[in-house]
Amino acid sequence: MILTSKTAIVTGSTSGIGLAYARAFAKEGANVVINGFGKPEDIEKERAGIETDFGVKAAYSPADLTKPGEIEGLIRLGEDTFGSVDVLVNNAGVQFVSPIEDFPPEKWEQIIALNLSSAFYTMRYAIPGMKARGWGRIINTASAHSLVASPFKSAYVSAKHGIAGLTKTAALELATHGITVNCISPGYVWTPLVEAQIPDTMKARGMTKEQVMNDVLLAAQPTKQFVTVEQVAALAVFLCSDGASQITGANIPMDGGWTAQ
Ligand code: NAD
Repeated sequence: MILTSKTAIVTGSTSGIGLAYARAFAKEGANVVINGFGKPEDIEKERAGIETDFGVKAAYSPADLTKPGEIEGLIRLGEDTFGSVDVLVNNAGVQFVSPIEDFPPEKWEQIIALNLSSAFYTMRYAIPGMKARGWGRIINTASAHSLVASPFKSAYVSAKHGIAGLTKTAALELATHGITVNCISPGYVWTPLVEAQIPDTMKARGMTKEQVMNDVLLAAQPTKQFVTVEQVAALAVFLCSDGASQITGANIPMDGGWTAQ
């Protein structure tokens, strides 16, 4: 176990990729702070499940990461409850799809605040402790959309390109402090969010489930397979290992070949 006696905070970890990161770090012995929205009973089930499945401690923060004032409390929760924040994963994110001229300004502001600015604030509060201890791992969930664009996703693509730049900058600032900063850039990942889009798309386009998956969702992904949340989490665990200590400032695609095209 590579993270025994360490603490990991994962933003947006009440479902999907974030929950898989939290469980993978707990499996490696880390205490974890989970964060995000959802039904209180579902969140408590996930939090308690991490403790019983892996024998670590898990805390939950309801911080709304579009509100900078709530972000300091998230980092303090990790430090005060478990004594340190050693691994920080900026993962919370939302999407909105619309042509620029119709894109609601409040959606633009929300996506930039959550998918980009929240990572600036979490880093700002977590870095001093990591520097003091001389060790840290910061991992940002970017996206294939940090490397290439798609139409109608202006805010998401801008935020994801932005987080790739923030990652490089932080990596250079922290290079001599034992702290690495990297992005993982998934293509389409099989999460409840993606699965839930299928019935509507089948109806809207008159397609079968297989057609929606292959001709719509996986059109850009040459392997014609979804990435799994466990695969993304396994890369994050590797980035926390000693073997990855010279990987910093990288933007690592896990996209079935999407951005090779
Ligand atoms: P998801 O919807 O399952 O998870 C998003 C998480 O963010 C949830 O826990 C949600 O409660 C939380 N969240 C939403 N608004 C928040 C807020 N204001 N404050 C705090 N938490 C908030 O989505 P996912 O597919 O697991 O996506 C996670 C990350 O991975 C996102 O950054 C997304 O852009 C990125 N990503 C996803 C895919 C994919 O295909 N699923 C591909 C590339 C990148």
